[in-house]
Amino acid sequence: SVYEGALVDFDSALKIEARWFTSVLMTDTCTNMARTLFLNKSALEKGQQRPAGAEETNLKQISVIGSGMMGSGIAYASVLQGLEVVLVDQNTEAAESGKTNIETLLNESVKRKKLSEEEKIRLLDNVKATSSLERISGSDLVIEAVFEDLQLKQSLYQKIEPHLKEGAILASNTSTLPITKLSEVLRDGARFIGIHFFSPVDKMNLVEVIKSEQTNEKSLAVALDYTNLIKKTPIVVNDSRGFYANRCIIPYINEGLLMLSEGIEPALIENSAKQIGMPLGPLQLLDELSVSLALNVAKETKEALGNEYEETVTESILLEMSQKNRIGRKELAGFYEYDDKGRRLRLWEGLRNLNLETNPSDVTTETVKNRLAYVQALEAVRAFEENILLSVEEGDVGGILGWGCLIWAGGPFSWLDHVGHENVVSECQKLYDQYGARFAAPKVIKELASSGRKFYN
Ligand code: NAD
Repeated sequence: SVYEGALVDFDSALKIEARWFTSVLMTDTCTNMARTLFLNKSALEKGQQRPAGAEETNLKQISVIGSGMMGSGIAYASVLQGLEVVLVDQNTEAAESGKTNIETLLNESVKRKKLSEEEKIRLLDNVKATSSLERISGSDLVIEAVFEDLQLKQSLYQKIEPHLKEGAILASNTSTLPITKLSEVLRDGARFIGIHFFSPVDKMNLVEVIKSEQTNEKSLAVALDYTNLIKKTPIVVNDSRGFYANRCIIPYINEGLLMLSEGIEPALIENSAKQIGMPLGPLQLLDELSVSLALNVAKETKEALGNEYEETVTESILLEMSQKNRIGRKELAGFYEYDDKGRRLRLWEGLRNLNLETNPSDVTTETVKNRLAYVQALEAVRAFEENILLSVEEGDVGGILGWGCLIWAGGPFSWLDHVGHENVVSECQKLYDQYGARFAAPKVIKELASSGRKFYN
């Protein structure tokens, strides 16, 4: 537009610009991104999923239990919007250290001139760091963010419940543990819900709100009013292991590891992910999350699934990385190399010498890209088919805000519509024949292909 405009008179240049603008506006990409990131995101923020007729919530004080990375982030997002926060940890020292994290984040806002020094002091004063669980009794909402350990969380809930104020809601920030299972130890499971934040809380705007089998409408309304108050975007999902986002992120990471085990060049894996528009390749994402977290999730899942758990080569790569102390960015060594300030330098040369099984066949970039895109999009569709995800709109908003899934296409469901379901079915068949059942086309995709319909009609 600029080039062509500069060759002609001003009025013609304006016409050229308007035409180019219109042609961009009319692309699938633009329509889909506007639908997901403007219309559907705004509707969710305005309480589309809030139960009709539920009483207005008047939140003043919340408690956050566990003042680690997530707990202090949740407390920060809450005080920033005027809430008082009781921050509880095992001892005062740990709770105070969580408060220091909040101060660091507030200091950044002061530096960026978003807050004055006086406002910062006033907000920080609203955080009460303590080791005493009794202090939660004034809170309308209590959010638990302690270590990801079922027994620890359940025994903590038994200590929390007697201190809960009448009508108060208890929530967990667990990333994978089923909410119904967690709430089994409570006398009143109806007041329990999952409020799953993403890391880092101050930058990630998605919150997954998870209903257990017992969660009542009031708890859902309070959770949604809270996410609205702290200016996050909620999606509401049903309960299951990994909920929606982690359920899709895990296969994406696993696919990267499987390709590595097949001997595919790490740079091809990472760059193919970038080419389909992912903000982080699977290996970089794993470095951010840490190899130890991935091993922990695998251990918990194995314990829960028993004989149904399928062991894959991905675990042996994780174990080998862990034995070599290459845990991820926080240890300055993982699939990538880092400098001492944590800046990512390059893929780790040693990846070539891992104890991997096979030699690569002549795999094309197109196949690597397709494997990475389909493995997550198909899992999103399965979550929808199984009624974990309640709408494709939330699937697209959650996919983009949660893990940057196919942003340019408007999210995983919009992407499948864009590809066309007949094409999706035939690509799934190819991938299924070569790589296995995880690429089988879900029933709903086959139905859309045969009827010529789309997720968004
Ligand atoms: P973390 O290790 O940084 O913090 C956990 C905190 O809980 C620690 O400060 C610890 O002292 C405290 N704690 C442990 N037992 C306690 C008890 N009995 N009473 C009070 N405090 C106690 O962990 P994190 O990364 O902040 O994760 C916390 C939770 O959030 C986990 O359930 C995790 O799965 C979930 N989560 C983590 C992420 C992530 O990326 N790290 C993302 C979403 C959700």
